[in-house]
Amino acid sequence: MDVLIIGAGTMGSGIAQTLVVAGHRAYLTDPDGTALGRAQERIRTNLVREQERGRLVEPVDSLMTRLDTTRELLANPVDWVIEAAPEQASLKQKIFHDLDRHYPPSVWLASNTSSIAISHLASQANRYPNRLGGLHFFNPVPRMALVEVVPGLDTSADFVTAAHQLIESLGKTGITVPDRPGFLVNRVARPYYLEALRMVDEGVASLESVDRVMQGAGFPMGPFRVIDLVGVDVNYAVTQSVYTETHGDERYRPHPWQEQLVLRGYLGKKSGRGFYQYD
Ligand code: NAD
Repeated sequence: MDVLIIGAGTMGSGIAQTLVVAGHRAYLTDPDGTALGRAQERIRTNLVREQERGRLVEPVDSLMTRLDTTRELLANPVDWVIEAAPEQASLKQKIFHDLDRHYPPSVWLASNTSSIAISHLASQANRYPNRLGGLHFFNPVPRMALVEVVPGLDTSADFVTAAHQLIESLGKTGITVPDRPGFLVNRVARPYYLEALRMVDEGVASLESVDRVMQGAGFPMGPFRVIDLVGVDVNYAVTQSVYTETHGDERYRPHPWQEQLVLRGYLGKKSGRGFYQYD
């Protein structure tokens, strides 16, 4: 299948990598040209590493021929468009407004949003809102098996079927979840991050010990390591969005300490510093 991915950041590049390994053709687009170059480099480096570990059946050069970048929406219809732009409702609404007008109804439109209501995004894609739904991949995409499929108020049953087929073709597991704030995973995960932030801020424990203890309890990573991996800004935007969409439910109130890190530009691993320092 031919898939256009909108946004060549952490998630867009991970989704593109996963698609080409599964035999699909991926086109990455991003208004930031340097992001496109970085994504191509990152994907090649990851693929070379996978090859060295004996996990690829196809040579890296051959896989890379199925990856393209473009600065504009493609003239020819693709099978899928997956949007992985920043977690801002107005920005995503504008993207879906344009996609809805640009592509015929045969093209499925999906958002990788972590938390913004699909029905909200569809409100600006009102030509064919039934071909739009959520496809929520997890980070790092090549390694994480789960994908949440999120039908909004208008999403057709055919979208859900096609989404599960695409996910299966990637060797992943899709689950259909309701279009409610945070969907399923991020709703459960919010209090986990927020309570860790509150505990450390109140001096109950250090962030290193919270991470160590949670890992010892069986979590693959502690909450602060996960936030740094996801992006302090991305994780913060998701909390803000869940808080707004629940009309200020106290359980999801964003934490000012995290906000300070975002404002200071300490965005986690990708910027070299977040809750931890990286080389
Ligand atoms: P990111 O900041 O790494 O990448 C976003 C990219 O979008 C950047 O390259 C940016 O230049 C580009 N962009 C900005 N404006 C754009 C526009 N108008 N059109 C197209 N591209 C544009 O962000 P990310 O971590 O990849 O997150 C992307 C989406 O995926 C968000 O909705 C986020 O909530 C979701 N998500 C993130 C994670 C994670 O762990 N990071 C996990 C699951 C879902």
